Amino acid sequence: MTILSDNEGYGVQSKDYVKKKNPIIKPENIEYDNTYENSIRPKDFDSYIGQGALKESLKVTLEAAKLREKPLDHMLFYGPPGLGKTTIAGVIASQMGVDIRITSAPALERPRDIIGILMSLKGGEILFIDEIHRLNKVAEEILYPAMEDFTLDMTTGKSQTAKTLRVPLPKFTLIGATTKAGELSSPLRDRFGIIHRLEFYTTDELSQVVQRTANILDIKITESGAKAVAMRSRGTPRIANRLVKRVADFAIVKYDGQIDEKVANESLDILKIDEFGLDTTDRALLNLIIEKYDGGPVGIETIAAALSEDVRTIEDVCEPYLLQAGLLQRTPRGRKVSPEGYRHLGIKMPSEQTKLF
Ligand code: ADP
Repeated sequence: MTILSDNEGYGVQSKDYVKKKNPIIKPENIEYDNTYENSIRPKDFDSYIGQGALKESLKVTLEAAKLREKPLDHMLFYGPPGLGKTTIAGVIASQMGVDIRITSAPALERPRDIIGILMSLKGGEILFIDEIHRLNKVAEEILYPAMEDFTLDMTTGKSQTAKTLRVPLPKFTLIGATTKAGELSSPLRDRFGIIHRLEFYTTDELSQVVQRTANILDIKITESGAKAVAMRSRGTPRIANRLVKRVADFAIVKYDGQIDEKVANESLDILKIDEFGLDTTDRALLNLIIEKYDGGPVGIETIAAALSEDVRTIEDVCEPYLLQAGLLQRTPRGRKVSPEGYRHLGIKMPSEQTKLF
C-alpha cells in the first residue's frame, strides 16, 4: 500500500506541499504495492466476499448517512493482517462517492504530519489510518477534537503569551485499522462510533476469492483446485491471493497450465505449506515449544528470540491463526501447544505423568 503521508514533514502553512505529498485519490485508483494487488482488490460490496454481518450493517449505515446527508461515523476495523480492513475502507469510500486518503500511524510521527493531513481534507472525505494502535500520544490528542468537533486546537506563541487557536476542519470520517484493538487507548477507542472485528474466512469464501483472483489474472483453475488452495490459505484472502499466483507459476512450468486439485496440492507441498496452511515458521514455532519447553507454557519473547523473529511478527502474523485453528493456546503463563497441535505435527503428546519426571 502506498503510504501517502511520509516522514519528510510539512508545516501547517505549506498547504501546497501537503497537496503534493498527499494527493487526493479516487478509491478506484488507490495505489498499492503494485498494479497486481490493485487489480484484484474488490471495489464494491458485491465483489467483497464474506464478512456478511459487517457488510449488512455497513450497507444500512451508509444508506442512513446518505439519507441524512451527514458524514459517516468514525469506524474502527480490527483483526489479523490481510483480512480486508483496507479493502473495506476503499469499498466504503467508493459506495459513498468520496475520496479516501490512506496513511499509517508510523508515518504520523510528528504533530505536523497529522495536522497537515487534517488541514488538507475536504468535506466528506475518508481518512484511513492503518496500524492506528501505533499512534503516539501527541497525535492522538490532536485527533480527539478533530474526531469529536471537527476542530483543530493549536497553540501559538510561548509560555505566558501562548494562545490556543481553534481551527475548524471539514467534516470527515476517520477509518482506523488495527491488528491490536486492545492496544488502543480507551479515549481513542471511545471516539469511534462503529467498531468491527473482521473474521477469518471460511474455505468456501476463500475458494470464491481464489476463483475471482484467478479470473482477473487469467489463470485457469478448477473448482477443486480453488478449494485446495483455499484450504491452505489460513482463512486469509491476502494469503489466498499470494498462493494462487505461486501455484499458477507451477501450473505453467510443470503442468499443463491449469490448476486442479493435484497441481495445487503438489505445488503447495513443494512450497512447504501444509494442509492446515502452516508454513515453516509456524511449524518451527510449534516444534520449538514442544522440543525445548515441553509443550509450554513459554513466553512470547522467549519464542521470538529463539526463532530470531520479531515479537510483533509472531503476535500479529503467526499466532492469530494458530490460536484460531486450535493448535496453540494462550495461558497467563505463556503459549502452550494444544493436543491438536501435537497431532498435527505427528508428535506424541507426553502424558502429564511423564511430564513430571
Ligand atoms: P488488511 O488491510 O486487513 O491487512 P487488505 O484489505 O489489504 O487487508 O486485504 C489484502 C488483500 O486481500 C487485498 O488485496 C484484497 O485483494 C484481498 N481481500 C481482502 N478482503 C477481501 C474480500 N472480502 N474479498 C475478496 N478479496 C479480499
